[in-house]
Amino acid sequence: MRIVVGHLYPDYLNIYADRGNIAVLTARAAWRGHELEVRRVTVGEGLTPGEHDLLYIGGGQDREQALVARDLAAMAEEVRAAVTGGAALLAVCGGYQLLGRSYRDLHGLDLAGVGLFPLETVAGERRMIGDVLLECELEPGVRRTLAGFENHAGRTRLDAGAQPLGRVISGFGNDGEGGWEGCRVGRAVGTYLHGPLLPRNPWFADWILAQALAHATGADAPTLPPLSDDLETEAHAVSARRAAARGGRF
Ligand code: GLN
Repeated sequence: MRIVVGHLYPDYLNIYADRGNIAVLTARAAWRGHELEVRRVTVGEGLTPGEHDLLYIGGGQDREQALVARDLAAMAEEVRAAVTGGAALLAVCGGYQLLGRSYRDLHGLDLAGVGLFPLETVAGERRMIGDVLLECELEPGVRRTLAGFENHAGRTRLDAGAQPLGRVISGFGNDGEGGWEGCRVGRAVGTYLHGPLLPRNPWFADWILAQALAHATGADAPTLPPLSDDLETEAHAVSARRAAARGGRF
């Protein structure tokens, strides 16, 4: 199967090797006989709902977010329509913030967001930096851990009733207080976790791939054949140990 990915602003939003997530999805798709076709979507190019099975956006400093925010907000309707139409989406840190309603940066500049995620973010003085470990339940009754690295000034507040990605075991998470991290709306997930995230969380990479395949085929999300993830599992364990040892401390 061909899986079409729209990579939003790869030339602006890519820190902590966020583009590595695309490399992982490409390899894990190929190991199952699928082909990932990555199409860049940058400033001035716009987006056609339905064209992509998966939308991906990485993180960035306030400066880069300000450079793309107006263009992204101008295609807010298309992004929301793509997700309503069943496309999967993964947004990391600065990209995650811009997919909420707004981000107020460290200088008090308000950047209008896409409004896909029911949340708002305001930057605070002290950056929240370190390893993170979450407990997630993307499928009812199936609990798994997600390990990564966070570095953000933004404090993200979810609306009442909004679904977080996971519970913080170690780390700061959305706001360093509430004990939750990220946000989920159907097949769309936003998170502060860099690293990149997917090499050390193969189950989550496969979950994203399965959501994208569901859009590509018009069927339910498939169960992908297992891979021998020894190295990935070890990387997860190392990251989880680091988070337990020092995550969530200023
Ligand atoms: N600039 C945003 C913040 O500081 C996002 C940072 C990032 O993507 N790592 O919160």
